[in-house]
Amino acid sequence: MSYTVAIVGRPNVGKSTLFNRFLEERKAIVDDISGVTRDRQYGVTDWNGKSFNVIDTGGFVPDSSDMFETEIRKQVKIAIDEANAIIFMVDAATGLTDLDDAMADMLRRTTKPVYVTVNKVDNSTRALEGTEFYSMGFEHNFFISSISGSGTGELLDAVTADIKEEPKAATATEELPEGAEPEEAPSIPKIAIVGQPNAGKSSLLNAMIGQERTIVSEIAGTTRDTIHTHYNMFQKEFMLIDTAGIRRKNKEKDDLEFYSVIRAIKAMDEADVCLLVLDAEKGVTAQDLSIFSLAIRKGKGIVVLVNKWDLIPKETNTARDYEKKLKDKLAPFTDVPILFISATEKTRIFKAIELALDVYENKHRKITTSKLNEIMLKVIEKYQAPVVRGHVIKIKFVQQLPTRVPSFAFFTNFPDDIKTPYRNYLENQVRAHFKFTGVPIRIYFRKK
Ligand code: GDP
Ligand code: GDP
Repeated sequence: MSYTVAIVGRPNVGKSTLFNRFLEERKAIVDDISGVTRDRQYGVTDWNGKSFNVIDTGGFVPDSSDMFETEIRKQVKIAIDEANAIIFMVDAATGLTDLDDAMADMLRRTTKPVYVTVNKVDNSTRALEGTEFYSMGFEHNFFISSISGSGTGELLDAVTADIKEEPKAATATEELPEGAEPEEAPSIPKIAIVGQPNAGKSSLLNAMIGQERTIVSEIAGTTRDTIHTHYNMFQKEFMLIDTAGIRRKNKEKDDLEFYSVIRAIKAMDEADVCLLVLDAEKGVTAQDLSIFSLAIRKGKGIVVLVNKWDLIPKETNTARDYEKKLKDKLAPFTDVPILFISATEKTRIFKAIELALDVYENKHRKITTSKLNEIMLKVIEKYQAPVVRGHVIKIKFVQQLPTRVPSFAFFTNFPDDIKTPYRNYLENQVRAHFKFTGVPIRIYFRKK
């Protein structure tokens, strides 16, 4: 399920403060998107067990009122086009302004829920002053202080009330670590094609399904964010999820990258495995890395496809050197397949499909407790967790949990005393002995 909430509002009302509050303790997945305007940000968070994407649609540098007008339109349009719900932020300290009114006019035309959020309500005087925003005539009004956090819980309750609960699997979920999702019933693998505009996503899709897909994209219409294509060839069956053709409907050239990121996130939400398509000539960009880290955070399988390989002059070690440089950038998660392809020349396209399906298999791999302990206890014996505050740490046994993202619980006498380097050692050892290539895995320590 994909649910996206956009925060809009004129500059300095406190959008990014609220965004950071939503993403608290999850800063690692906040990514900035630079542009001519103030950085836009997106991330993923959860509240009451419901997970959703948050977009801070960004600010714009105050310049001329003309510029304001165009920037506001852009920002609100992104929100209306891409989000499921909109937080329309205004500022109790400055009161209702013409710009707020201009935005309200646009937002009144959407059928998506709009939550008017009066920010900087730090005291009772402000609370009283804030009531003037009722005059904008929206149904949902909230009074918050992003700095102190007061009122944000009610806002989140309301926003998340519209998100449908994920169907719960039969497993006893209370046994799972906080935030871990139970595994899903197996179904047809879903593979998303993501990447920057012009990386070659459409060309790859066409190469895979062997035809131009323009007709399909038109049927898809404007309401769909992603297009699903059933692939059933050479004994392989899966669903391809892409956002390729859709962007052509959008005329906002300068916002292309941002739209493409939002769409990539949506496609990713629906997928088991992401094919991250890079342009070999451009190399890996900051946004590619953002998508990559978000995929890890969301627990999706990943295959990196370096496309347009036909354009690269090749010497003996070109591919090897390229791969090494790429992995340096992807670190610390480097246990990921990298393939050099050409979508237009149809080079290694089928291999890409095979790798994606391999990763799908790895993602669903279950290691029996006996096998896991046989290997991992030996590994732990060889290199024990360092003593912390006089505590000798013993790991007694290991178990794979019934989760959507492969997760391993290590039962130990001092779960809180095991530090990141040792955690990383365990992850690397799990990867060295069992095949989880292309798949993020989670390591938990539990008291025993
Ligand atoms: P944006 O441009 O809408 O993203 O606004 P920012 O999040 O950058 O905030 C603009 C300014 O308002 C900053 O100086 C914040 O510290 C301040 N601010 C944000 N939220 C609050 C709040 O709840 N109360 C007060 N008093 N100031 C706030
Ligand atoms: P998208 O925006 O990611 O869907 O990218 P497109 O598939 O529309 O491709 C953008 C441009 O790159 C087009 O002109 C393609 O012909 C070109 N292109 C795509 N894949 C390759 C490739 O493997 N080699 C070369 N030389 N050009 C490619």
